[in-house]
Order: sequence, then C-alpha cells, then structure tokens
Amino acid sequence: MGAGRYAPSPSGELHLGNLRTALLAWLFARSTQRDFLVRVEDLDRARAGAEAVQLADLRAIGLDWEGPVVRQTERAEGFRAAIAALQEAGLLYECFCTRRDIAEAPSAPHAAPGAYPGTCRNLTGSERTRRRAERPAALRLRTDVDRFTITDVLHGNYTGVVDDFVVVRNDGVPAYNLAVVVDDALQGIDQVVRGDDLLPSTPRQAHLATVLAGLGTVPAAGSGSAIPQYAHVPLVLNADGKRLAKRDGSVTLAQLRHDGVGVEQVRSVLLESVGLPGGPLARALEVFDPARLPREPWVFTGFPAPTGGMQ
Ligand code: GLU
Repeated sequence: MGAGRYAPSPSGELHLGNLRTALLAWLFARSTQRDFLVRVEDLDRARAGAEAVQLADLRAIGLDWEGPVVRQTERAEGFRAAIAALQEAGLLYECFCTRRDIAEAPSAPHAAPGAYPGTCRNLTGSERTRRRAERPAALRLRTDVDRFTITDVLHGNYTGVVDDFVVVRNDGVPAYNLAVVVDDALQGIDQVVRGDDLLPSTPRQAHLATVLAGLGTVPAAGSGSAIPQYAHVPLVLNADGKRLAKRDGSVTLAQLRHDGVGVEQVRSVLLESVGLPGGPLARALEVFDPARLPREPWVFTGFPAPTGGMQ
C-alpha cells in the first residue's frame, strides 16, 4: 500500500483553494486505500505559528492522516545523501548566474522558452575558482533530456521542459524540486495530488525521480515505479478570475467563522464545487470518482450573507 499526501507551505493560513486541494488529496488517497500523510514544506516561506493553524484547520474540515507530521527542515539527511549521489555521478555543476544573467543570455537555438541557457555548464576549473570569489554557487542538474512526459489523472499525458534546473540554491538550501522528489520517495508516497499551478514543474521532478532511483539513492515509490501517480487539480479563482489569495477577504476558516460561516458549511461548499455531495466526508468518499472531477478552475464569489438573526 502506498501513500498520498498534502504538503502545505507554512507561509500563512490556508485559504479555500488550499483546503479544497487538501480535501481532494485526502479523497484520492482514501478512495484508493492509501495512507495519507501531511508534510510541512518549511524550507522557505515559513511563518511562525502558521503550521499549527494549518494543521488545526485540516483537522477541522475532517481530514485525518497517518503518522507524525513531517517537516522538511528536519529531513536534511535525505537531501544530503541525494545531493552527494548526484555529485558523485557527475550530474551537478556550479552555477554563478544571477536572474538577470539568465534573462539576458542568448538562448540556445532549439531551447524551450524559460529554459536555463547553460551559461555555467562547461566552465573551466579556473573560471569556477574565479567566479567562486564573486558569489556563492547554486548547483544545477546536468540533464541529458530537454523534455519529459508524465501522465496525470486529470490532464492525461503532459510533456514539459526539463532544463538544467537548480537542485541546491546558492544559500545552500535544497531547492523545492529536489526536496519534494526526495521526500516523496523516502516517505513511500506514490500519489501526488496538488494544485495544477505545479504541473509545469512536474516533468522536471519526474525526471529527477528517475535519475535518483537509477542511482539507487531513493527507493522507487510503492508501485515499483520511480514516478508517483499525479493528479493536478484545478485552482480556485476570485471574482476577477485571478488565483484566490488571502487578501481576497473571507477565505480562511477563521475569517469565515467570524462571519458566521461554520466549518461544515465551508466543507460542503468545497465538496459541491467538485461535484460531490456536501455533508460528512464519508459520503463524498463513497461516490468519489476522479474521472468526474471538473477540469476547470472554480470561481469563488463569496458565501451568501448568513440570514436569520434579528437586527
Ligand atoms: N508546498 C507546495 C505548496 O504549498 C506544494 C508542493 C507539492 O504539493 O508538491 O504550494
């Protein structure tokens, strides 16, 4: 039996879009008899106190999960081992480029838009020594492919760019694309459900998962494949058609509670927004069918003002 997961970044309170994704991740895992894990992605953007509020909100909407919550900042050993294995295999190189260097570099003739132009790929030893004195290096993966195709439950086959992406930032912190792959593999996660804003990064991650499994650094996921099952779910948009954000007003459980909207009502609205019955989660689980999920974003325009209550 494998596992699914929800992996929030503790940068603040969860909003309706995050809660909806968490509900879907739980439904995907439970409807396929998988464990469900929660991992706090606190390598960057961690705000004091946010984790506790996020976990309380996930429990309040009815989610449960196996085992202790894992924090990425406590998992340095796994990242170090993966980085060492890549380094030993000659698959990493130092990169001294600033964002501006990259934006201004001429791109290779057939390179995909946005791909790293390869500026630091073939620096000589003496160039590297000189550049190290100027700024700390990031480490990039030396890739031998420029595209990779993944299969997604909602999107079917999806082909995206794989360039020489950063795996260790120039402040020494493992980059998200490395951390997520190593953690998913080490935690036995073989199902990744998350917002479809992350779909474009997924071919890079799937490629890296394949490389790491090939080096024997991380176990293949439960299914025997290095690549988990992916389901990238549509986002929630605000009335202006922009991605929902906390500044949109009453979009967190605490704000909604304050406005008189209870957590059960929030959960029902979120379930109904994906075509499932509101009410207890167990009922939604009984009829959950990924094939029937909407593929389009959900536009949230607010809860109706609570009625009743004498003025
Ligand atoms: N921590 C990421 C976020 O909150 C999600 C990463 C993932 O699910 O792979 O956007």
